[in-house]
Amino acid sequence: MSIFKLRPVNLKFIRYLCTERQNLPQSAGKPFFIRQQENLLVNHVLQTNERIENDKWMEIRKELLFNPNLRLSEHNVDSVILDLCCDVSNKSAAKDYIEFLRNTNHEINIAVLGKYFKILFKSKTPLSAEETKILFESYDKIRAKYPILDTRTAEACILGLSKTSRWKECYDLLEMYETNDQTGTIVFASIVAGAFDHDEPDKAWKLLKSMQTRIKLYNFVLESYLNYCIRQAKNSNELEILLIKMFKFWSEYDYYPEEKMIDMYMNCFKDIKKWSIRKTSIKHNGTCVACGCKLYNLEESSDDFDNLSNSFLSKVLVGGDIYNNTTPKELENFKRFVNATKPYDVVIDGLNAAYACNKDRVNYTPVEKLVEVVKAFVAQNKKIFVLGRCHMRKWSSQEMNYIKRHAHLFLAKDSSADDPFMLYATFTSGINTYFASRDFMRQHRYILNDEYLRRIFRHWQFTRQIQPTMIGGPHNRQLILIEPPEFLPIAQQNQNGDWHIPYFEETIYKEMQLSDRPRHWLCLKKNQ
Ligand SMILES: [Zn+2]
Repeated sequence: MSIFKLRPVNLKFIRYLCTERQNLPQSAGKPFFIRQQENLLVNHVLQTNERIENDKWMEIRKELLFNPNLRLSEHNVDSVILDLCCDVSNKSAAKDYIEFLRNTNHEINIAVLGKYFKILFKSKTPLSAEETKILFESYDKIRAKYPILDTRTAEACILGLSKTSRWKECYDLLEMYETNDQTGTIVFASIVAGAFDHDEPDKAWKLLKSMQTRIKLYNFVLESYLNYCIRQAKNSNELEILLIKMFKFWSEYDYYPEEKMIDMYMNCFKDIKKWSIRKTSIKHNGTCVACGCKLYNLEESSDDFDNLSNSFLSKVLVGGDIYNNTTPKELENFKRFVNATKPYDVVIDGLNAAYACNKDRVNYTPVEKLVEVVKAFVAQNKKIFVLGRCHMRKWSSQEMNYIKRHAHLFLAKDSSADDPFMLYATFTSGINTYFASRDFMRQHRYILNDEYLRRIFRHWQFTRQIQPTMIGGPHNRQLILIEPPEFLPIAQQNQNGDWHIPYFEETIYKEMQLSDRPRHWLCLKKNQ
């Protein structure tokens, strides 16, 4: 018996030693590195946009596999070739390549098929009969081999199938698809688009509403819906009803479409003669520059406010884990302080005002900035609450004394989370109280697990948040208070039936946030 135990041989390591790959850059074998190698056949062929025959693909594959400057193997070469097809937006080459692999009996791994399904999903045109056939056969093969799919494969299959007549099978796949609030919305959106594409709007709306604002309204969903409207509407009246249904959805879920989509919907609306359509802006007081109509005021009903206030206080102060850093004793002291001195007109987040309203400390120290903010509200004769931190005791006593004289000051422990204190002081002061902070409070919005409450919270924030901001150059810095707008900055229809719809120029999805109030609006006014 040998006294030496043989270690398992690491083949990868031996192959690595047998080649001179040590000098290769890390990017060798990555698609962008390959694209830079002008002499490679694949780069010439993909540029031509001509059909690529099997023997040519064979040549390309061999060249890439055996090129010593690339780190490619049987395991990853097919995936890289598909990436190269995508990089030059050559969807038909990707299809040809998959066909080549099938015809030549190459084993196509599940990752490569997944990638191909995603290419088909991203394609702007409907799938051809041949593409659909390949997709179905590949999908059936995958399911026969793997009755349960991992999340990544399930996602690829959903995206691919959503473009086909078998889109309803996506619902079964959804059960294998693990997601949370932040991810995976493209998967749900693809099923919604699939439902609109196949004239099953009820299923699409049901899924949209069940996902509520967690689903992003990708442009492809809006396009699918628009095409559905054009297909279904028999006359301009029906078209109008269908288009307005989407506007109502935007209104209900505070959604801002992007300009490209607004242009498409606008074009469609132009066919309906009874509307004047203009791009416009809205003045701070809520008046539309184009038609002079006034947008709805930002007003929360007292029932909504009570609902929000009660839910928030019970969830955040009692049920939430936000107070991990706060002792029950501190919380009790704080509540006692607030209940003895409320209601306030304005609640100031002291730390936020001192630091966040301007990073530069040349003109003002933090405490001076906080004093400026307090002074601005003193000038308005407001009853003020300032939430500070214990370390502020070390700040200049002159300034701190000013704050104490003009505001109710509570110093929380340095380690405490301050937003819940802020919100408690504001909510318990009533519906008319403002809070001054530049914090967007997103985490608190998400604590409210009811979408209706989240929406009220968002609207309440629109109406009640004042943002202290420093403006001007280094030598003439000046504090201004950005007041909330006087109107509701979401899509809305007035009593005459006119619509005002905010939109963004950017190409990225925008969640409603205070820093990004829309500057662009579409005005759709009914002709008299
Ligand atoms: Zn208008």
